This record gives sequence, structure tokens and C-alpha cells, in this order.
Amino acid sequence: MSGLLLKNIRPFGGAATNILIRDGRIASIGSGEPENVKVEDGNGAIAIPGFVEAHAHLDKSLWGMGWHAHQAGPTLEDKISTERRLRRELDIDPRRQSARQVALAASHGTTAIRSHVDVDTDQKLWCFEGVAETRQHFRDVVDMEIVAFPQSGMMIRPGTLELMDAALAAGADVVGGLDPCGIDRDPKGQLDAVFGLAEKHGKPIDIHLHEPDALGAFSLELIIERTRALGMRGKVTVSHAFCLGMTDRLRVNALVEQLAREDIAIATTAPAGWPAPAADELRRAGVRLCAGSDGIRDTWGPYGNLDMLERALFIGLRNNFRNDSDVEYALHVCTQGGADVLKLESYGLHEGAHADLVLIDAETIPEAVAARPKRKLVLKRGQPIARDGQALITVE
Ligand SMILES: [Zn+2]
Repeated sequence: MSGLLLKNIRPFGGAATNILIRDGRIASIGSGEPENVKVEDGNGAIAIPGFVEAHAHLDKSLWGMGWHAHQAGPTLEDKISTERRLRRELDIDPRRQSARQVALAASHGTTAIRSHVDVDTDQKLWCFEGVAETRQHFRDVVDMEIVAFPQSGMMIRPGTLELMDAALAAGADVVGGLDPCGIDRDPKGQLDAVFGLAEKHGKPIDIHLHEPDALGAFSLELIIERTRALGMRGKVTVSHAFCLGMTDRLRVNALVEQLAREDIAIATTAPAGWPAPAADELRRAGVRLCAGSDGIRDTWGPYGNLDMLERALFIGLRNNFRNDSDVEYALHVCTQGGADVLKLESYGLHEGAHADLVLIDAETIPEAVAARPKRKLVLKRGQPIARDGQALITVE
């Protein structure tokens, strides 16, 4: 028998049909029932493409290590220094913890992940090497991009730039950055270094920008300027961009217009706790928007589970989405939105696409987002990687 027939499934909640999968791709969509193929009856489940987790930190979760009482103080610097201390003390092994997160993400239907991975003068390339090992080991389960991420600052810790350079040479896919004013207090220095690495290695950029209000807007303007000057249109993502949630709407509108012009993407977690970009404003302006869980169950905080269907709910809540088309857009951000930012080839539910898909028992996509049932079946390149909410892979 060659091939797999997914019978009686409803792509995006539409009419029931069958999907034939051969050689890891969708060979045909229609009512045909070829012989000599394995058959999986979807019983009318919704089919969507695999979720794209566009902002994770696979190197740093405490998942599976027992409950950890939160210790860090309120500032970003407190969280960074607490993590540096606890990483070795608690033995947060990046290889083991990233593998656990891959299994967790797969159980919820995620088939592609962009993970920021710490590169700093304490850990050096330990985190990168551990996550890269997981990427290789689970290459048939998830497509993984690694962002070399200077979590502890770049300019304030001499030696970090060289380690970032080494991580990119060793296979990191994306150049990371972090609050060029707030952490490094040297926006020109950090951003010139980040864009310099991107130019040298021919790789895209994804910068964490937590800086609020006018400070964040200032940093964002510097990022836009460099994107334009270096011809990096379409190759830069800004994660969080909390400043786009500030009250100075005139300035926000001007920034959003420039983001659209330079095709700079935004990655959001749709946070409940502070101002954040408005999804519909970005959508209207044509700015690509993807979503991610950020760190989960780590020394930064006790929440998170890598469930992108739940993330779609958070996007809906955050943006006051109520009608069906808006809630469908929230799910779109967690699927196609992420694929557009990661530039995944052959993504989607069409003939010829990779057979990375998720079956969900629900009447409509908005109902799936609201109720978040366990995922019935998750396929990666046509192979089951999770069933009934359980990953089918083994991790420590
Ligand atoms: Zn992050």
C-alpha cells in the first residue's frame, strides 16, 4: 500500500471531502477513493495546515522538571540574571528541554517552529548546540528555525558578537537582537552589529523589542532605517513591538505604514498584561503578522503550553474579535501568518503542498478556537506525529 487517504474531512471547516497523500505531499483533494492506500476516517473533522509556532524559546523551559516557584524580580534585567543563575543550578539542559517542547508542540498540532536560542558569554554555544541536536533528531517531526539570540545583551557583554557569528556559521538560521536601548543602551552599536551579521551571513533578522512607547518607537525607526538602507525588505521580523500599542496613534500609524513599506513582519504573543500591536491595524496596512508562545514554564514565568490553537484564542481576546471572520483571522495568524514569516515552501491545504496538517473535531474554525478540543490527528509530511492530543514520539 502506498499513500494515505484522509476520508471525510472538511478543509477549513468547509464541505466534506477526501485528501490523498503520497510521498509526504497532498496528491489530490476530492471525493475519489483509490484502492490500495491506507485509510484514515476523519468523521467530518476540520482539517487545517499544521500550526506555525513563530516565537518560541526551546532552550529554556522547565517543562517536565516539576513545578518551579517563580523567583525573578519585576524587571527584564531581573529575569535575565535569574535565568543565568538558575540554568546550571537547576540543570535546564537545552537538548532535553527542547526535545520535550517539540513533543508538546506536536501534540497540539504544530509542525514548524522558529525558536530563539540564547547565545551569551556564560552559556556560549551550549544552548544552540543542544537545540540544533534536537532539530536534527526530530527533523521528520517539525521544521525548525533557530535564531541566534543575544539574551543577555550584545554590546554590554564583549564576546557575544563573536559567539553570535559562530552560531550563524554553525547553522543558526536567523540573527536575533534585543532591546537595543533598554538592554544594551547602545542602539546604534547593537543594530549595526545585528544588521552586519545578517549581511555577512545572508540571513534574516528577528529582534525582540519590548521597549515601550517613545523609546520603542525610536528603536523601531532605527530598525526600519537599516532595513531600507541595506535592502533587507521582507527579511526582518520584530517580535513583541509593544510600542505599537502606545497611545500616540499618529506615531503608531506612521510606524505601521513604514513597516508595510519595508515588509517588516511582526511576531506577537497577544499578551494580556501590557499594550501590544493591534492585529486588525496591521492587517489593514498589509503588515505580515505571526504569533508565538514565547518562553513557557520557565524562569521568566509559570504559564504557557505551546498550544497555538490557544494562542489563536488569546489573539481573539486581545483584539476583541467576536465575529467568525475575525476569529478565523486569529487562526490564520497562527498558521499561514507564521508560514509567510518563516517563508515555508509548499505550505497549506492544496494539491502539491506538504502534507503537514491537523484534524480537529469542531463544527467551524471559530468553534475550534473557542473550545480548543484535543487535536484528533497531526500529520507531518503525511506521517502521524500525534493522535488524540498525544505526541507519538518518545522523549526523555
Ligand atoms: Zn521571546
